Amino acid sequence: MITYSLGLKNKFRGITVREGMLFEGPAGWAEWSPFLDYDDATCVAWLRAAREAAVGGWPVPVRDAIPVNCTVPAVGPERAAEIVRASGCRTAKVKVAEPGQTLADDLERVEAVRDALGADGRLRVDANGGWSVDEAVRALKDLSRFRLEYVEQPCASVEDLALVRRRTDVLVAADESIRRAEDPLRVRELEAADIAVLKVQPIGGVRACLEIAEQIGLPVVVSSALETSVGIAAGVALAAALPELPYACGLATVAMFTGEVVDEPLLPVDGFLPVKRVVPDPALLAAATASPERAAVWETRLARVEELKGSAG
Ligand SMILES: [Mg+2]
Repeated sequence: MITYSLGLKNKFRGITVREGMLFEGPAGWAEWSPFLDYDDATCVAWLRAAREAAVGGWPVPVRDAIPVNCTVPAVGPERAAEIVRASGCRTAKVKVAEPGQTLADDLERVEAVRDALGADGRLRVDANGGWSVDEAVRALKDLSRFRLEYVEQPCASVEDLALVRRRTDVLVAADESIRRAEDPLRVRELEAADIAVLKVQPIGGVRACLEIAEQIGLPVVVSSALETSVGIAAGVALAAALPELPYACGLATVAMFTGEVVDEPLLPVDGFLPVKRVVPDPALLAAATASPERAAVWETRLARVEELKGSAG
């Protein structure tokens, strides 16, 4: 079992270094990497997901390649178009509602992405909860001329998602509103979204996600929790096992790291990820290993969460 520490090319959720644990079980390698601001109780589901990867293994895939989207951050239009062209992906996710920017900035960026993708490319926007209900309705009215596949998390609360959904023709996806296994059911109860973004670790494993997908009856977009290729392989396993996969997944995030632990990282080729398990390379693993101080922090954290998981069953 090792604790890894890898740099990120850009700040994400306020962090520039990603940490987590990697371990091997009879079924293969597993990643446990709950964000450091998450409390122990929240981390139990993340541990269930890691145990499944290491011990239980994953269901049989029904497809052998997973379409993924490229991600366009809150950059200018020229850079946005470059990112899309360089990615090889036929689906782009464009950041909107960035603090300090205006709707005009979003419109320029989205227009540039639509031009770069061409008419048959798919384009979704992600507001990361940055709009009020009125702002979202107004922005979507203007943005919809670029033919949006959907808008991800237009507002922060699930109640506001439900309000936006009733006032726009653009499909709404719930992302940040789904952080724990019980959240998708609330999204469905409030009819707050047309699409559910599911991440394997927070929900508690591939099988737990498959069950939820069946219960909520909404199309699922599988997304990463910014893991190494070891963790991404779990997302790929979910995407590969879902009966229907109508949308490209948000699993092309390995490139956000400055380093890796496997020698063939799960990076997209022509917009697709292969369905496979990965095994860390010993030299890369050694280079990614965290300091003894950080490893001690993670080992203590794991012991606490193991104990909680034991009592939770
Ligand atoms: Mg999102």
